[in-house]
Amino acid sequence: MSFELLKKQVIDRDLCEGCGLCAGTCKSITMVDGRPKLTGKCILDRGADHCGRCFDICPQAHPEQVPAEMEEPLLAVSVRAKDESIQVVASNGGFVTALFKHLLETGEVEAVIGIVGGKYAPQAAVAEKPEDVLKLAGTRYSPSGVMTKLIEQQKKTRGQLAVVGMPCELRGVSRWEEMLGISVLKIGLFCSNNMRKDESGKATKMTPCDHCTDFIGVHADISCGFAGSGKGYTTAIALTERGREVLQKALDASLFDVTEPNLDRVKASQQRKSKRSPAEIDMPLREKILATLVSSGPADTVSISESLEAKAEKVHYHLLVLQQEGFVELHENPSDPYRLEWHATQ
Ligand SMILES: Cc1cc2nc3c(=O)[nH]c(=O)nc-3n(C[C@H](O)[C@H](O)[C@H](O)COP(=O)(O)OP(=O)(O)OC[C@H]3O[C@@H](n4cnc5c(N)ncnc54)[C@H](O)[C@@H]3O)c2cc1C
Ligand code: SF4
Ligand code: SF4
Ligand code: SF4
Repeated sequence: MSFELLKKQVIDRDLCEGCGLCAGTCKSITMVDGRPKLTGKCILDRGADHCGRCFDICPQAHPEQVPAEMEEPLLAVSVRAKDESIQVVASNGGFVTALFKHLLETGEVEAVIGIVGGKYAPQAAVAEKPEDVLKLAGTRYSPSGVMTKLIEQQKKTRGQLAVVGMPCELRGVSRWEEMLGISVLKIGLFCSNNMRKDESGKATKMTPCDHCTDFIGVHADISCGFAGSGKGYTTAIALTERGREVLQKALDASLFDVTEPNLDRVKASQQRKSKRSPAEIDMPLREKILATLVSSGPADTVSISESLEAKAEKVHYHLLVLQQEGFVELHENPSDPYRLEWHATQ
């Protein structure tokens, strides 16, 4: 796999949502006007056989159908930051800003990553000191390449990081975490749509949003938005155990005025968004084989080739490459010792 695949399946089809993860993961890729460009040499042009990290990490190359019915959050509140200096710069209740400030003050994280800059030209930014968090406050309805900064920051430190991003961006961050075996605190923003300036300078809805089914940000530890809250408040929902602990500690520290959120509003937005159809991505055969083993469990070469309607010898070749790379292993079938079957190692 090469940059060509990412270009063909995502960038040229205008499905890129500008998260910047591919640029963070490969020094040959640069974000130019919110889209990735190959500015160096792809390793495949230098004679290597297989890379594809940019495709593997890209959330838009791996679309997801998020269900209409959202799982009950572990904790849900509607909050407004008590700190008036936050209230004046925040977009709603200042939840993200107050939480980030608290996380840096208590040393729970070493740095937080958000955005700064103009309405349709936000840029990723890092805050390492509590007083610097205010500059990240507020919402910009445009992509920022925020995740390039996350990867850069992670390379500099072994400390804990927190990042805020759109549901699609956090889907990519989860893939990156899995690849590296690391974990960052992920704060999501509820999202219906995002905007981007076209060539004439007019702001229009981004194409990938037409195919996006995630309103709540299912990959976040805590997600938040104005839905379900009154003016000046933010609804915050904890979706993981880590998120619940972090949110509970912030509530215990009395950072917020707290009321009950109207979760029906959030659920209704998720239901509406789940009706969109994820884009179809034509994965290369090797990826399809691995995806089949991960989703359907162990299988032999013939049954994999039948289910994918591909030639058995081609499937066998890709399985051997996957075995060499450590993604699959060959084991005896427990019910028939004369038959061997492939297992995904992840
Ligand atoms: C494109 C977009 C669409 C949204 N759509 C909805 C919606 O339909 N319904 C809903 O309830 N809420 C939506 N939100 C979330 C909402 O607008 C607020 O961001 C949220 O309520 C948090 O408010 P706050 O006062 O707690 O945040 P603040 O304390 O003001 O902090 C906001 C944080 O988000 C970061 N941030 C802002 N914009 C971006 C961005 N573009 N990319 C990455 N990080 C960013 C900032 O750096 C800051 O750290 C959307 C947000 C965005 C960016
Ligand atoms: S990540 Fe790998 S496949 Fe993608 S552009 Fe870089 S070298 Fe090429
Ligand atoms: S990783 Fe992000 S920036 Fe790169 S192509 Fe995919 S969506 Fe676009
Ligand atoms: S609707 Fe929001 S989460 Fe979905 S692709 Fe667009 S920006 Fe990303």
